[in-house]
Amino acid sequence: MPDLARFRALHAEAEDLARPSVANILHVDMDAFFVSVELLDRPDLHGKPVVVGGQPDQRGVVSAASYEARKFGIHSAMPLRTAGKLCPHAVFLDGHHAKYGEWSDRVASILARFSPIVEMVSIDEAYLDLAGTERMHGPPLAATDKLLRTITRETGLPCSGGLATTRLTAKVASDQGKPRGLVWVAPGQEAQFLSPLPVRKIPGIGEVTERALRALGIETVAQLAEISPERLETIFGQWGTALYRKARGGDSYEFVLDAEPKSISHNHTFGEDTNDLPTLHSLLSHLSQKTCKRLREAGLAARTLTLTIRYAGFDAYTRSRTMPEPVHLDADIQAAFLALFEEHRDTKRKIRLLGTALSNLTHGGEQLNLLDASRREKLEKLTRAADDLRNRFGFGKIQFGGSLKREE
Ligand SMILES: [Mg+2]
Repeated sequence: MPDLARFRALHAEAEDLARPSVANILHVDMDAFFVSVELLDRPDLHGKPVVVGGQPDQRGVVSAASYEARKFGIHSAMPLRTAGKLCPHAVFLDGHHAKYGEWSDRVASILARFSPIVEMVSIDEAYLDLAGTERMHGPPLAATDKLLRTITRETGLPCSGGLATTRLTAKVASDQGKPRGLVWVAPGQEAQFLSPLPVRKIPGIGEVTERALRALGIETVAQLAEISPERLETIFGQWGTALYRKARGGDSYEFVLDAEPKSISHNHTFGEDTNDLPTLHSLLSHLSQKTCKRLREAGLAARTLTLTIRYAGFDAYTRSRTMPEPVHLDADIQAAFLALFEEHRDTKRKIRLLGTALSNLTHGGEQLNLLDASRREKLEKLTRAADDLRNRFGFGKIQFGGSLKREE
């Protein structure tokens, strides 16, 4: 490692993280949103374990749980039956998604009074840029306090906020503030605020990364922040660079794109249904390469490949193949998609849409058993060079054989 890099690794602060001197980024998150909306009609249930999503003898999953229910280990996405076993005396309610949408719109219209820049990232959370709003509502901290109180006064719904210099830090802050809390992270305090937290608290770090980090003995953000960017990049590829930044509270350009994905997919609908084989092959190859590129950018490899074929008349078929080893190279993934296509295509029917998806994602791109070492090294070099060119000139310019016909 060069000296400068070592210095940066030892002295946590990355130079490229230009920090504003005012915490302007606000993350607002509604507390147990679906439950809170249901409680508007059922005030008698306040303070009780409440589960929204259906009845405990139904097959579905929990879509929200009150804080009282969470104490019993109930959380969203858990099967309703499991929730019923964990807390038999909880009150189980059916979900009403149209109603949640209406309340979400009401919250959004309140947010819009506080800043022209509001980004709703889901039904119950949003980022606001409070820069330049002082004349309307005072300095950011005062404006935030007023905003959270206004939401609760006008809707009756509890919420929490995080105010910080970056979106990542603001989101972690609002989470730490829950329920009904506001956490302000002053400029320069980001690393100190994040350090003691488990890595899983960092947005974008999911189960897969958590497991990979634990295998390296890394459990807290402080431990993650001690690892050099070079080492992280060796282990995780480009995702490692993102992790390095995240450990210091830094954002990337696009919050959503930077998260650890569960699956990566692309599809294309033809303007006119077709069964022209060269056209279909070239599109498939194009989609497969696009999906692969995103896979590598995330520093991931995939074990499961899924092909979607939709015929004229809207019948859609998906066919999957699970590989013996995780794969990340264009050549292997493209060949597998082509094989799936050849195997399952109904040659008599015209096709309206093709889609490629990669799932069962893991870190590290070794495909040890599929290729000998020298060929692998060569292909990886070629792949990296092609990705560089694609980044510089746009995706359509550089493609591997088989999709050269397609014009972007
Ligand atoms: Mg929420």
